[in-house]
Amino acid sequence: RLTLARVRDELEISVERRTRDLMASNQLLSAEIDERRRAEANLRQTQDELIQAAKLAVLGQLAAGINHELNQPLAAIRAYAENARRFIELARVDQADANLAQIVELTERMADISAQLRQFSRKSGERHESIAVQACIHYALRLFHSRLRDERVEVIERLPHEPLWAIGDLVRLEQVLVNLIGNALAAMKERPAPTLTLSAEREVDGVVIHVQDNGPGIVEEHLTRIFEPFFTTKAPGKGLGLGLSISSRIMDDLGGTLTATNAPEGGARFTLTLPAAAPPGTDSLESRHA
Ligand code: ADP
Repeated sequence: RLTLARVRDELEISVERRTRDLMASNQLLSAEIDERRRAEANLRQTQDELIQAAKLAVLGQLAAGINHELNQPLAAIRAYAENARRFIELARVDQADANLAQIVELTERMADISAQLRQFSRKSGERHESIAVQACIHYALRLFHSRLRDERVEVIERLPHEPLWAIGDLVRLEQVLVNLIGNALAAMKERPAPTLTLSAEREVDGVVIHVQDNGPGIVEEHLTRIFEPFFTTKAPGKGLGLGLSISSRIMDDLGGTLTATNAPEGGARFTLTLPAAAPPGTDSLESRHA
């Protein structure tokens, strides 16, 4: 009996020790998990900040064109205002009024441009919502308005009449499109007849958008590398090599993809996919019927 009692005591001691060990390693694991969660949250925040910084950098590159877009109507407003004053002096009210009407129209145009800049530079939320793909393409194109005109770029749009709805984030998708269009324009700099083709269509499992140029295309060995951070073939100071890696990351976050190929007729062709969304309003209707 004595032996039995000793064996039982030893067993209890050893179980207790084992339990303590297990609890200690359990605590260690919990601490590690917490640490990893914190690191992940940190990483996400840093990536979000990087995306925002990249967007502001793009805005900086667009600034010259936008400045031009704002200066033109500003000069016109001044001329119309001077005219209106002269007509008032001469008591030609109708003509003064016509000049003032022009001023109102021009200020509306300037307000449009400014609203667009505000929308592009704003931080995007975490929400994924139904977005109208064509509208997003047009917002992105409008930021390049003066550059497209000055560089005589022909823009071909192959977009369906019916609005295409995708699940995503308007600000982020616009950022990706602005990056792709900016790259396309840079690639076509030396082309005699630069052509930018934008198309979008609904496919079985989502919405597909293509951005294609008629530049030199992408060297075959670079096709797999262009999405790497800091990969660039641009001269020092001309490109950081972050645009495509950030764009690809944004598309991942939106549950979509970004890929590149060379078009058979030459030039680079970037393809974006996004999950399709039901047109706003119809979703709730369907569920009500169900
Ligand atoms: P960056 O524009 O700063 O170089 P990106 O990540 O946007 O950085 O692009 C990486 C590289 O991919 C470019 O340097 C270029 O070699 C290639 N590239 C991107 N877009 C095009 C295009 N439309 N045509 C040809 N090459 C392109």
